Amino acid sequence: MKKTFARPYDWNVICMICRERIKASESVRRWDGLIVGANHAGCFEYRSPLDMPAPPLRDQRPLPFTSPRAADTHTLQGSSSTISVGVSPFTYTIGSSPEQITFTGTITQMTVNGQVVPSPTAAGDDQSKVQYAPNTVLVITYTGTLSMNTIVITGHSNTSASL
Ligand SMILES: [Zn+2]
Repeated sequence: MKKTFARPYDWNVICMICRERIKASESVRRWDGLIVGANHAGCFEYRSPLDMPAPPLRDQRPLPFTSPRAADTHTLQGSSSTISVGVSPFTYTIGSSPEQITFTGTITQMTVNGQVVPSPTAAGDDQSKVQYAPNTVLVITYTGTLSMNTIVITGHSNTSASL
């Protein structure tokens, strides 16, 4: 144990890591607030840089210039047919292939597999196309006349734009 001694204008503190008694003038406050010996190699440490937030991977600034590839042309392949719509509420079940249905009319309520969904047709824009997974059950409540056309999707074709 170190001999105790007095030093003018100084006082004793205990290193908060190793508990050694040191003079206040030999102590330092660590990044986490602990008071430790300034020359205690195992007690003093800098904050790990890994604690700091990583720099953002991307920022909001626009690129100075770009030269993108032209968009591909994406085409749905399949056979189109008209669904004979029964009285409201009308139940329609998608077949074993996905289907894209075009709704034309005023749909007041619709459920997809029992869940109420927003109407695919909005006022002022009474036509919309929606794709559904196989075996999906649609229950459509409508007013006026509703027409539904379906494309049974057999594939997609993608044409790369020529440069
Ligand atoms: Zn220490």
